[in-house]
Amino acid sequence: MKYSPTQNFINGKFIDATSTKSMEVISPIDGKLLSKVPMSNSKDLDNAVAAAKAAFPSWSKTPIKERVQVFFRYKSLLEKNLKELSDLCSEENGKTYGESAAEIEKCIELTEFATSLPQLVTGEILEVSRGVECRTEHVALGVVASIVPFNFPSMVPNWTIPNAIALGNCMILKPSEKVPLSCAKIAMLLKEAGLPDGVFNIVNGDVEIVEAICDHPDIQAVSFVGSTKVAKIVYQRSTSNYKRCLALGGAKNHLMVLPDAIPTMTAQNVAASMSGCAGQRCMAASAMIGVGNIDHIVSAICEEAKKNIPGENLGAVINKESQERIEKYITEAEKQGAKILVDGRNAKVAGKENGTYVGPTVIDYVTPEMSVAKEEIFGPVISIMRTNTVDEALLIENNNPYGNAASVFTQNGGMARYIIEKASAGMIGVNVGVPVPREPFSFGGWNESKFGVGDITGKSSIEFWTKLKKSTTKWNPEAGVNWMS
Ligand code: NAD
Repeated sequence: MKYSPTQNFINGKFIDATSTKSMEVISPIDGKLLSKVPMSNSKDLDNAVAAAKAAFPSWSKTPIKERVQVFFRYKSLLEKNLKELSDLCSEENGKTYGESAAEIEKCIELTEFATSLPQLVTGEILEVSRGVECRTEHVALGVVASIVPFNFPSMVPNWTIPNAIALGNCMILKPSEKVPLSCAKIAMLLKEAGLPDGVFNIVNGDVEIVEAICDHPDIQAVSFVGSTKVAKIVYQRSTSNYKRCLALGGAKNHLMVLPDAIPTMTAQNVAASMSGCAGQRCMAASAMIGVGNIDHIVSAICEEAKKNIPGENLGAVINKESQERIEKYITEAEKQGAKILVDGRNAKVAGKENGTYVGPTVIDYVTPEMSVAKEEIFGPVISIMRTNTVDEALLIENNNPYGNAASVFTQNGGMARYIIEKASAGMIGVNVGVPVPREPFSFGGWNESKFGVGDITGKSSIEFWTKLKKSTTKWNPEAGVNWMS
């Protein structure tokens, strides 16, 4: 085992869970054992919540300009530790070093946004009638929880940590049991940055901890990022306990390619979107709809896709189960009559025979009823459908239950505008394969890709992590009493 067993982080200290149950943390790169992660129980969560609750009065009363000083220092520490964090991310998640480094760069950008929060939460004040003022303030909620998936071991935790904490909350983070190591390093850096004990806590585990978070009476808000199946469970369970909840789910992102799209640029963007992070991105292009004759672009996509070599510039998928699931989708599509133009099944990487790799896969002549057209595959696979008109393409896009992202590749501005308007997704790209909005713009999908109001990052997250206090004040007796006051 390369690293010592992972521990929980409670009240500023790494401690063992009370439960003795654990799971192995295996590197997807070569199948080697990295660490063990405890399957904590509700007693561990109670301890973490008690620490967070005790830290809250002092932390929430610390002026926000002081609170964000921690995140200025944390940002510098992320920069200083970029290599170590990137190596850890690649080891536990399987993505390439370049992808991991980009993930840490994004953490830096997210933290940078949090340091700007004092400029964004100034509240409002107005003399609403003579001598009477109304004023609003953003007030922290208390103890909040963040439950995160495996595919971005550092970035998704950093979607929530800097904003929620800078806004005055104390947090319980539940990492993915598949990739707990990056979160432990994040805890160390937050402590080094001067975050007071108890403000940030980690409880490792799986279903039991997630359910306990949803049920815990002292947790005010739950943010979740993961599959739609679990997002629905978490949203229902925490809101039925009267908590606020924002639950981001899975995706099936459609790219619409029009015949006037620039072939090379389109092919490069499509191939990068489908295979980046081995297709394990909720913003990955997963279905492509060619409108009219786009055969020349499909050929270029195949050539670009083949440049992604497993173990070189294409990382591993998270585990054997995922590898088998992805390959099963490809085989099923083939049996149903789709054409596999680039086949990533049975990928082997010399010297890493126990790694879990899938090569880039391009499937053409997919029909909208096939599973590869409808379901989230979460691997480096693109399913190509064909239509004669943009409206037929939009019908396919609109009929899919998800709504994270959609993109169009065209040179026609009017057509692009039409697709922006008609596509049923929260984030739209024009000639962009991965249309992730950068700070200060917020991240969030529609439909079954997100449950709850608002977005998880950017300015929109301020509403989620705070409640508004409205005060009406009068100091001059001569203002009298009228129907308004
Ligand atoms: P997952 O839903 O399996 O797990 C997410 C979290 O929920 C983990 O912490 C896990 O321990 C916990 N969990 C798993 N099963 C549970 C259950 N039955 N009850 C309660 N908790 C449970 O997701 P994953 O496989 O880790 O991540 C991949 C998924 O996340 C994909 O569907 C991807 O699209 C999605 N994702 C979405 C976004 C977004 O912004 N919409 C971002 C990243 C990932």
